[in-house]
Amino acid sequence: MKFRIKKKCHNARSGLLELQHGSVRTPVFMTIGTYGAVRGLCKNDLENCKTEMMLCNAYHLMNNVANICFDQSISLHEYISWDKPILTDSGGYQVFSLSSLTKISEEGVTFKSPQNGDTIFLSPEKAIDVQIKLGSDIMMIFDECAKYPLSWELTRTSMELSLHWARLSKNSNYSSNPLFGIVQGGMYDDLREISLNELLNLNFDGYALGGLSVGEPNELREDIVTNFAPKLPFDKPRYLMGVGKPQDIIRAVNSGIDMFDCVIPTRNGRNGQLFTNNGTVNIRNKKYENDLEPIDSGCPCFTCKNYSKSMLRHLDKCNDALAARLMSIHNVYFYQDLMSRIRASIENDSLDALSKDIIEAFEEKK
Ligand SMILES: [Zn+2]
Repeated sequence: MKFRIKKKCHNARSGLLELQHGSVRTPVFMTIGTYGAVRGLCKNDLENCKTEMMLCNAYHLMNNVANICFDQSISLHEYISWDKPILTDSGGYQVFSLSSLTKISEEGVTFKSPQNGDTIFLSPEKAIDVQIKLGSDIMMIFDECAKYPLSWELTRTSMELSLHWARLSKNSNYSSNPLFGIVQGGMYDDLREISLNELLNLNFDGYALGGLSVGEPNELREDIVTNFAPKLPFDKPRYLMGVGKPQDIIRAVNSGIDMFDCVIPTRNGRNGQLFTNNGTVNIRNKKYENDLEPIDSGCPCFTCKNYSKSMLRHLDKCNDALAARLMSIHNVYFYQDLMSRIRASIENDSLDALSKDIIEAFEEKK
């Protein structure tokens, strides 16, 4: 992996991240393909939406796909027909968010599979092994995501366990695949400082801010990102996990974040919440019943070139799967276009103006 910063604008940076399956321009937004596919979208849709990188969940792929890939000597890329870079998360977040009856030890987590009730043990070493089998371009360490709210004492215990697992993750990486550390510490600056400093000693290939977007107030999250993004190593990629409203992205870019992922474009798209440069459109609103204009007349995406708001609303009302697909296409395109505009604005020194426009368009229209 190589990471090169092309241009700086205060704390913001535009750069190029060279990975095994190609280069991505940063700041980059990774479209989420939980099970190896972005729900409802095929490879052509993603390419037409200018998607440069996907995020897949190792947790959901570890019991079948990882073994198929390993046994057949193919990468996840070949299996899912996606030849561009893939970041895999370690499964830590899903273990805690999806599973009840988890039993945590220093060695890892035992839990009941929400799919079939089987008892599964996932350790830092196993999480790395799964990601190596998948041929991931960027792997994430296995960590514990502290809930919100949580006391300082319990958050410290959780953060220390994550640090212990970070060491085990680092030591178990028998591949040359890049591995990112994840700063934890909940909403407590002093705990995040400890987490960051210990992770720096382990010398990961990139660093992420984790444990955010867990229900905390926006202001608290913004303070943590503003404070900690500039403290992550300057010459390595900086990744803000799971945060992705347009106004959150532009603020985090201004703090020096390079990588993003979030379910918002696809999940909101499936529910008729569509992003435009003037804010969001709720296609289920009756006012669009007779509106024969596209979602955004300036948008060149497949959906806007071919379908009106009225037709999308009609399809959505009929519960036709095409509605979810077309609205996801528009939102995925919007996010990739947003990142492209952000990169351009860093390079031509107009980030301040773009930031103001994005915050004004979205801040009051939550
Ligand atoms: Zn569009």
